[in-house]
Amino acid sequence: MGIIEPATRLRPRTETSDPAETGVLTVDLAALADNWRTMARLAPGAECGAVVKADAYGLGLTPVMRALRAAGCRTFFVANVVEGETARAVAPDATIYVLDGLVPGAARRLAAADLIPALGSLGEIEEWAAAGGKPKAAIHFDSGMNRFGLPIDEAAAAAERARKITPTLVMSHFVSSQIRDADRNARQIEAFLDARARFADIPASMSNSSAVFLPQRPHFDLIRPGYALYGGNPTPYAECPMRPVARLNARILSTREIEPGACVGYDALWSAQKRTRIATIGVGYADGVPAGASACAGKPAGEALVGGVRCPFIGRVSMDYIVLDVSDAPKDAAQRGEWVELLGDKICIEDAASRAGTIGYEILTRLGARFSRRYLGG
Ligand SMILES: *Cc1c(COP(=O)(O)O)cnc(C)c1O
Repeated sequence: MGIIEPATRLRPRTETSDPAETGVLTVDLAALADNWRTMARLAPGAECGAVVKADAYGLGLTPVMRALRAAGCRTFFVANVVEGETARAVAPDATIYVLDGLVPGAARRLAAADLIPALGSLGEIEEWAAAGGKPKAAIHFDSGMNRFGLPIDEAAAAAERARKITPTLVMSHFVSSQIRDADRNARQIEAFLDARARFADIPASMSNSSAVFLPQRPHFDLIRPGYALYGGNPTPYAECPMRPVARLNARILSTREIEPGACVGYDALWSAQKRTRIATIGVGYADGVPAGASACAGKPAGEALVGGVRCPFIGRVSMDYIVLDVSDAPKDAAQRGEWVELLGDKICIEDAASRAGTIGYEILTRLGARFSRRYLGG
Protein backbone atom coordinates (compact mmCIF):
# COMPACT_ATOMS: atom_id res chain seq x y z
CA MET A 1 0.00 0.00 0.00
CA GLY A 2 1.05 3.61 -0.49
CA ILE A 3 3.57 5.27 1.72
CA ILE A 4 2.10 8.17 3.63
CA GLU A 5 4.50 11.05 4.15
CA PRO A 6 4.44 12.97 7.40
CA ALA A 7 1.63 15.44 6.89
CA THR A 8 3.60 18.31 8.35
CA ARG A 9 5.94 18.45 5.37
CA LEU A 10 3.16 19.40 3.02
CA ARG A 11 0.94 21.61 5.08
CA PRO A 12 1.41 25.31 4.40
CA ARG A 13 2.80 26.79 7.59
CA THR A 14 0.69 29.60 8.95
CA GLU A 15 3.68 31.73 9.78
CA THR A 16 5.10 31.55 6.26
CA SER A 17 1.90 32.07 4.32
CA ASP A 18 1.01 35.22 2.47
CA PRO A 19 -1.59 37.08 4.54
CA ALA A 20 -3.55 37.71 1.34
CA GLU A 21 -4.10 33.97 0.81
CA THR A 22 -7.30 32.37 2.04
CA GLY A 23 -7.08 29.11 0.13
CA VAL A 24 -3.99 27.18 -0.91
CA LEU A 25 -3.81 24.17 -3.20
CA THR A 26 -0.57 22.23 -2.71
CA VAL A 27 0.38 19.72 -5.38
CA ASP A 28 3.01 17.17 -4.41
CA LEU A 29 4.81 16.42 -7.67
CA ALA A 30 7.06 13.85 -5.99
CA ALA A 31 3.96 11.88 -4.94
CA LEU A 32 2.60 12.26 -8.49
CA ALA A 33 5.81 10.82 -9.96
CA ASP A 34 5.71 8.01 -7.40
CA ASN A 35 2.15 7.20 -8.37
CA TRP A 36 3.20 7.03 -12.02
CA ARG A 37 6.01 4.62 -11.12
CA THR A 38 3.56 2.53 -9.07
CA MET A 39 1.23 2.22 -12.07
CA ALA A 40 4.18 1.38 -14.34
CA ARG A 41 5.25 -1.39 -11.95
CA LEU A 42 1.74 -2.84 -11.92
CA ALA A 43 1.85 -3.34 -15.69
CA PRO A 44 5.34 -4.72 -16.20
CA GLY A 45 5.02 -5.65 -19.87
CA ALA A 46 3.39 -2.40 -20.92
CA GLU A 47 4.38 1.20 -21.40
CA CYS A 48 2.86 3.56 -18.84
CA GLY A 49 1.38 6.70 -20.35
CA ALA A 50 -0.48 9.48 -18.56
CA VAL A 51 -3.85 11.11 -19.13
CA VAL A 52 -3.47 14.85 -18.55
CA LYS A 53 -6.77 16.15 -19.95
CA ALA A 54 -8.68 18.95 -18.19
CA ASP A 55 -5.51 20.71 -17.05
CA ALA A 56 -4.17 17.45 -15.60
CA TYR A 57 -7.42 16.84 -13.69
CA GLY A 58 -7.29 20.38 -12.35
CA LEU A 59 -3.78 20.17 -10.92
CA GLY A 60 -1.95 22.09 -13.67
CA LEU A 61 -0.95 20.65 -17.05
CA THR A 62 2.49 22.21 -17.29
CA PRO A 63 3.97 21.31 -13.88
CA VAL A 64 2.30 17.88 -13.95
CA MET A 65 3.66 17.04 -17.41
CA ARG A 66 7.14 18.26 -16.48
CA ALA A 67 7.18 16.01 -13.41
CA LEU A 68 5.86 13.00 -15.34
CA ARG A 69 8.39 13.51 -18.11
CA ALA A 70 11.18 13.65 -15.57
CA ALA A 71 9.86 10.36 -14.14
CA GLY A 72 10.12 8.80 -17.60
CA CYS A 73 6.63 9.18 -19.11
CA ARG A 74 6.73 9.56 -22.88
CA THR A 75 3.08 9.20 -23.96
CA PHE A 76 0.34 11.62 -22.96
CA PHE A 77 -3.40 11.82 -23.61
CA VAL A 78 -5.31 15.11 -23.74
CA ALA A 79 -8.94 15.75 -24.63
CA ASN A 80 -8.68 18.44 -27.30
CA VAL A 81 -6.43 20.34 -29.67
CA VAL A 82 -5.95 23.33 -27.38
CA GLU A 83 -4.79 21.12 -24.52
CA GLY A 84 -2.60 19.28 -27.01
CA GLU A 85 -0.91 22.48 -28.13
CA THR A 86 -0.09 23.37 -24.52
CA ALA A 87 1.16 19.84 -23.91
CA ARG A 88 3.32 20.00 -27.03
CA ALA A 89 5.00 23.17 -25.78
CA VAL A 90 5.89 21.37 -22.53
CA ALA A 91 7.07 18.15 -24.16
CA PRO A 92 8.48 18.68 -27.68
CA ASP A 93 9.52 15.02 -27.98
CA ALA A 94 6.49 13.27 -26.43
CA THR A 95 3.77 11.26 -28.15
CA ILE A 96 0.51 13.14 -27.55
CA TYR A 97 -2.88 11.60 -28.32
CA VAL A 98 -6.05 13.70 -28.61
CA LEU A 99 -9.05 11.75 -27.27
CA ASP A 100 -11.72 13.95 -28.92
CA GLY A 101 -10.65 12.46 -32.21
CA LEU A 102 -10.81 14.57 -35.34
CA VAL A 103 -13.15 17.53 -35.02
CA PRO A 104 -14.22 18.47 -38.57
CA GLY A 105 -11.63 20.82 -40.03
CA ALA A 106 -9.10 20.42 -37.20
CA ALA A 107 -6.65 18.25 -39.15
CA ARG A 108 -4.26 21.05 -40.03
CA ARG A 109 -4.00 22.31 -36.48
CA LEU A 110 -3.50 18.80 -35.09
CA ALA A 111 -0.75 18.14 -37.61
CA ALA A 112 0.95 21.48 -36.95
CA ALA A 113 1.47 20.53 -33.30
CA ASP A 114 2.31 16.92 -34.17
CA LEU A 115 -0.74 15.69 -32.25
CA ILE A 116 -2.20 12.24 -32.90
CA PRO A 117 -6.01 12.01 -32.91
CA ALA A 118 -7.86 8.96 -31.58
CA LEU A 119 -10.10 8.40 -34.61
CA GLY A 120 -13.55 7.06 -33.85
CA SER A 121 -15.31 6.58 -37.17
CA LEU A 122 -14.65 5.61 -40.77
CA GLY A 123 -15.37 9.22 -41.69
CA GLU A 124 -12.69 10.46 -39.33
CA ILE A 125 -10.17 8.00 -40.76
CA GLU A 126 -10.97 9.27 -44.24
CA GLU A 127 -10.70 12.94 -43.32
CA TRP A 128 -7.40 12.35 -41.53
CA ALA A 129 -6.03 10.34 -44.48
CA ALA A 130 -6.96 13.19 -46.81
CA ALA A 131 -4.33 15.33 -45.12
CA GLY A 132 -1.82 13.14 -47.01
CA GLY A 133 1.51 11.71 -45.99
CA LYS A 134 0.00 8.73 -44.13
CA PRO A 135 -0.43 10.63 -40.86
CA LYS A 136 -0.26 8.82 -37.53
CA ALA A 137 -3.48 8.02 -35.67
CA ALA A 138 -4.93 5.93 -32.89
CA ILE A 139 -8.00 3.90 -33.84
CA HIS A 140 -10.60 4.02 -31.09
CA PHE A 141 -13.05 1.11 -30.87
CA ASP A 142 -16.31 1.21 -28.98
CA SER A 143 -16.49 -1.94 -26.87
CA GLY A 144 -19.60 -0.86 -24.97
CA MET A 145 -19.37 2.73 -23.80
CA ASN A 146 -21.39 4.16 -26.72
CA ARG A 147 -19.64 7.46 -26.51
CA PHE A 148 -16.71 7.29 -28.88
CA GLY A 149 -15.20 4.84 -31.24
CA LEU A 150 -15.85 2.59 -34.18
CA PRO A 151 -18.29 -0.27 -33.71
CA ILE A 152 -16.40 -3.54 -33.37
CA ASP A 153 -18.05 -4.90 -36.54
CA GLU A 154 -16.46 -2.10 -38.56
CA ALA A 155 -12.96 -3.33 -37.65
CA ALA A 156 -12.36 -4.91 -41.06
CA ALA A 157 -13.48 -1.76 -42.89
CA ALA A 158 -11.37 0.35 -40.53
CA ALA A 159 -8.29 -1.77 -41.22
CA GLU A 160 -8.90 -1.32 -44.94
CA ARG A 161 -9.21 2.48 -44.74
CA ALA A 162 -6.34 2.67 -42.29
CA ARG A 163 -3.95 1.73 -45.08
CA LYS A 164 -3.90 5.40 -46.00
CA ILE A 165 -2.81 6.40 -42.49
CA THR A 166 -0.25 5.11 -40.00
CA PRO A 167 -2.04 3.54 -37.03
CA THR A 168 0.17 3.77 -33.95
CA LEU A 169 -2.38 2.53 -31.41
CA VAL A 170 -5.68 0.64 -31.23
CA MET A 171 -7.65 1.49 -28.15
CA SER A 172 -10.92 1.11 -26.28
CA HIS A 173 -12.27 2.32 -22.94
CA PHE A 174 -14.03 0.55 -20.06
CA VAL A 175 -17.51 1.43 -18.81
CA SER A 176 -17.11 0.25 -15.22
CA SER A 177 -13.54 -0.82 -14.55
CA GLN A 178 -13.85 0.44 -10.96
CA ILE A 179 -16.24 -2.47 -10.35
CA ARG A 180 -13.84 -5.38 -10.15
CA ASP A 181 -16.30 -8.16 -10.86
CA ALA A 182 -18.55 -6.48 -13.40
CA ASP A 183 -19.36 -9.00 -16.15
CA ARG A 184 -19.22 -6.12 -18.56
CA ASN A 185 -15.45 -5.88 -18.18
CA ALA A 186 -14.86 -9.35 -19.60
CA ARG A 187 -17.35 -8.71 -22.43
CA GLN A 188 -15.57 -5.50 -23.36
CA ILE A 189 -12.18 -7.23 -23.41
CA GLU A 190 -13.62 -9.93 -25.72
CA ALA A 191 -15.01 -7.29 -28.05
CA PHE A 192 -11.76 -5.36 -28.10
CA LEU A 193 -9.76 -8.51 -28.87
CA ASP A 194 -12.00 -9.06 -31.92
CA ALA A 195 -11.27 -5.60 -33.26
CA ARG A 196 -7.62 -5.73 -32.37
CA ALA A 197 -7.16 -8.94 -34.36
CA ARG A 198 -7.46 -6.79 -37.51
CA PHE A 199 -4.52 -4.68 -36.35
CA ALA A 200 -2.15 -7.43 -35.34
CA ASP A 201 1.10 -5.48 -35.27
CA ILE A 202 -0.23 -2.26 -33.80
CA PRO A 203 0.21 -1.55 -30.06
CA ALA A 204 -3.05 -1.81 -28.10
CA SER A 205 -4.36 0.08 -25.09
CA MET A 206 -7.45 -0.46 -22.99
CA SER A 207 -6.70 0.29 -19.34
CA ASN A 208 -7.51 3.47 -17.49
CA SER A 209 -6.41 3.60 -13.82
CA SER A 210 -8.97 1.16 -12.43
CA ALA A 211 -8.62 -1.32 -15.29
CA VAL A 212 -4.94 -1.81 -14.44
CA PHE A 213 -6.17 -3.59 -11.27
CA LEU A 214 -8.74 -5.85 -12.93
CA PRO A 215 -8.22 -9.60 -12.50
CA GLN A 216 -7.89 -9.94 -16.31
CA ARG A 217 -4.94 -7.48 -16.29
CA PRO A 218 -5.95 -5.95 -19.63
CA HIS A 219 -2.73 -3.96 -19.87
CA PHE A 220 -1.90 -4.78 -23.51
CA ASP A 221 0.99 -2.58 -24.71
CA LEU A 222 0.16 0.76 -23.13
CA ILE A 223 -1.80 1.71 -20.01
CA ARG A 224 -3.55 5.10 -19.75
CA PRO A 225 -3.96 6.06 -16.10
CA GLY A 226 -5.25 9.48 -15.11
CA TYR A 227 -7.11 9.56 -11.80
CA ALA A 228 -4.72 7.28 -9.90
CA LEU A 229 -1.74 9.48 -10.78
CA TYR A 230 -3.45 12.39 -9.03
CA GLY A 231 -4.08 10.40 -5.85
CA GLY A 232 -7.60 9.20 -6.64
CA ASN A 233 -8.48 5.68 -5.49
CA PRO A 234 -8.64 3.42 -8.56
CA THR A 235 -9.83 0.52 -6.35
CA PRO A 236 -12.88 1.85 -4.49
CA TYR A 237 -13.49 -1.71 -3.17
CA ALA A 238 -10.17 -1.56 -1.27
CA GLU A 239 -7.81 0.82 0.48
CA CYS A 240 -6.31 3.49 -1.78
CA PRO A 241 -2.97 2.24 -3.13
CA MET A 242 -1.91 5.70 -4.32
CA ARG A 243 -0.20 8.55 -2.50
CA PRO A 244 -2.20 11.74 -1.98
CA VAL A 245 -1.12 14.45 -4.41
CA ALA A 246 -3.50 17.34 -3.80
CA ARG A 247 -3.83 19.10 -0.49
CA LEU A 248 -6.32 21.87 0.01
CA ASN A 249 -6.08 24.28 2.92
CA ALA A 250 -8.32 27.20 3.81
CA ARG A 251 -7.98 29.93 6.36
CA ILE A 252 -10.31 30.67 9.22
CA LEU A 253 -11.61 34.22 8.74
CA SER A 254 -14.02 34.48 11.64
CA THR A 255 -15.22 32.56 14.70
CA ARG A 256 -18.14 32.90 17.11
CA GLU A 257 -20.31 31.05 19.61
CA ILE A 258 -23.97 30.66 18.82
CA GLU A 259 -26.91 29.83 21.06
CA PRO A 260 -29.32 26.90 20.66
CA GLY A 261 -31.83 27.68 17.93
CA ALA A 262 -29.56 30.09 16.04
CA CYS A 263 -29.37 29.34 12.32
CA VAL A 264 -26.32 29.45 10.07
CA GLY A 265 -26.03 30.46 6.43
CA TYR A 266 -28.40 31.15 3.54
CA ASP A 267 -31.92 29.79 3.81
CA ALA A 268 -31.31 28.77 7.43
CA LEU A 269 -30.76 25.14 6.46
CA TRP A 270 -29.02 24.40 9.74
CA SER A 271 -29.69 25.51 13.29
CA ALA A 272 -27.83 24.80 16.49
CA GLN A 273 -29.22 22.21 18.94
CA LYS A 274 -26.87 23.42 21.66
CA ARG A 275 -24.35 26.17 22.26
CA THR A 276 -21.91 25.74 19.35
CA ARG A 277 -18.50 27.13 18.44
CA ILE A 278 -18.36 27.89 14.74
CA ALA A 279 -15.72 29.12 12.30
CA THR A 280 -16.00 30.60 8.81
CA ILE A 281 -13.34 29.63 6.24
CA GLY A 282 -12.44 31.53 3.08
CA VAL A 283 -13.36 28.92 0.48
CA GLY A 284 -16.71 28.26 -1.18
CA TYR A 285 -18.36 26.84 -4.24
CA ALA A 286 -16.63 29.43 -6.45
CA ASP A 287 -13.42 27.63 -5.47
CA GLY A 288 -14.79 24.25 -6.45
CA VAL A 289 -16.19 22.91 -3.17
CA PRO A 290 -19.57 21.62 -4.40
CA ALA A 291 -22.72 23.15 -2.96
CA GLY A 292 -23.75 19.51 -2.62
CA ALA A 293 -21.46 19.33 0.42
CA SER A 294 -23.86 21.66 2.30
CA ALA A 295 -25.33 20.46 5.58
CA CYS A 296 -29.05 19.97 5.51
CA ALA A 297 -31.14 17.47 7.38
CA GLY A 298 -30.42 13.80 6.88
CA LYS A 299 -27.33 13.88 4.71
CA PRO A 300 -23.63 13.74 5.57
CA ALA A 301 -22.03 17.14 4.98
CA GLY A 302 -18.49 17.99 3.98
CA GLU A 303 -15.77 18.05 6.60
CA ALA A 304 -12.60 19.96 7.34
CA LEU A 305 -9.73 18.96 9.56
CA VAL A 306 -9.17 21.55 12.29
CA GLY A 307 -6.18 20.85 14.50
CA GLY A 308 -6.44 17.17 13.53
CA VAL A 309 -10.16 16.93 14.35
CA ARG A 310 -12.83 16.39 11.70
CA CYS A 311 -15.32 19.25 11.83
CA PRO A 312 -18.53 19.17 9.77
CA PHE A 313 -19.74 21.89 7.41
CA ILE A 314 -22.89 23.53 8.75
CA GLY A 315 -25.53 25.23 6.64
CA ARG A 316 -25.14 25.97 2.97
CA VAL A 317 -21.80 26.21 1.21
CA SER A 318 -21.80 29.76 -0.14
CA MET A 319 -19.82 31.30 -2.97
CA ASP A 320 -16.79 32.33 -0.95
CA TYR A 321 -17.32 30.81 2.48
CA ILE A 322 -18.10 27.67 4.40
CA VAL A 323 -19.05 27.59 8.09
CA LEU A 324 -17.73 24.76 10.28
CA ASP A 325 -18.85 23.42 13.64
CA VAL A 326 -15.54 23.55 15.52
CA SER A 327 -16.93 22.65 18.94
CA ASP A 328 -14.74 19.52 19.10
CA ALA A 329 -11.56 21.08 17.68
CA PRO A 330 -8.65 22.19 19.86
CA LYS A 331 -9.24 25.85 20.80
CA ASP A 332 -5.88 27.07 19.52
CA ALA A 333 -6.47 25.53 16.08
CA ALA A 334 -9.96 26.95 15.71
CA GLN A 335 -8.87 30.58 15.73
CA ARG A 336 -9.05 33.39 13.22
CA GLY A 337 -5.99 33.15 10.92
CA GLU A 338 -5.40 29.41 11.42
CA TRP A 339 -5.48 26.93 8.54
CA VAL A 340 -7.83 24.00 8.12
CA GLU A 341 -7.53 21.10 5.68
CA LEU A 342 -10.29 20.24 3.21
CA LEU A 343 -8.35 17.64 1.23
CA GLY A 344 -5.14 15.82 2.11
CA ASP A 345 -3.85 12.72 3.88
CA LYS A 346 -6.80 12.41 6.23
CA ILE A 347 -9.60 13.67 3.99
CA CYS A 348 -9.16 11.84 0.71
CA ILE A 349 -10.71 12.79 -2.60
CA GLU A 350 -13.33 10.00 -2.38
CA ASP A 351 -14.29 11.11 1.09
CA ALA A 352 -14.84 14.70 -0.04
CA ALA A 353 -16.73 13.45 -3.09
CA SER A 354 -19.14 11.13 -1.31
CA ARG A 355 -19.98 13.88 1.17
CA ALA A 356 -20.74 16.19 -1.72
CA GLY A 357 -22.81 13.65 -3.65
CA THR A 358 -20.35 13.53 -6.53
CA ILE A 359 -17.30 11.60 -7.76
CA GLY A 360 -13.65 12.24 -6.92
CA TYR A 361 -12.88 13.14 -10.55
CA GLU A 362 -15.24 16.10 -10.27
CA ILE A 363 -13.73 17.24 -6.97
CA LEU A 364 -10.27 17.31 -8.57
CA THR A 365 -11.17 18.94 -11.87
CA ARG A 366 -13.18 21.71 -10.19
CA LEU A 367 -10.48 22.90 -7.81
CA GLY A 368 -10.75 26.54 -8.58
CA ALA A 369 -8.55 29.16 -10.14
CA ARG A 370 -8.74 31.38 -7.05
CA PHE A 371 -6.47 29.22 -4.91
CA SER A 372 -2.83 30.03 -4.59
CA ARG A 373 -0.98 26.99 -5.89
CA ARG A 374 2.18 25.50 -4.52
CA TYR A 375 4.10 22.77 -6.22
CA LEU A 376 6.34 20.59 -4.10
CA GLY A 377 9.08 18.26 -5.27
CA GLY A 378 9.07 19.31 -8.95
C1 LIG B 1 -10.05 9.94 -19.02
C2 LIG B 1 -9.66 8.73 -19.79
C3 LIG B 1 -8.69 7.84 -19.28
C4 LIG B 1 -8.14 7.95 -17.88
O1 LIG B 1 -9.08 7.44 -16.98
P1 LIG B 1 -8.83 7.39 -15.40
O2 LIG B 1 -10.00 6.68 -14.88
O3 LIG B 1 -8.73 8.81 -14.96
O4 LIG B 1 -7.54 6.67 -15.19
C5 LIG B 1 -8.25 6.81 -20.10
N1 LIG B 1 -8.77 6.65 -21.34
C6 LIG B 1 -9.71 7.47 -21.85
C7 LIG B 1 -10.25 7.22 -23.21
C8 LIG B 1 -10.20 8.53 -21.09
O5 LIG B 1 -11.17 9.32 -21.59
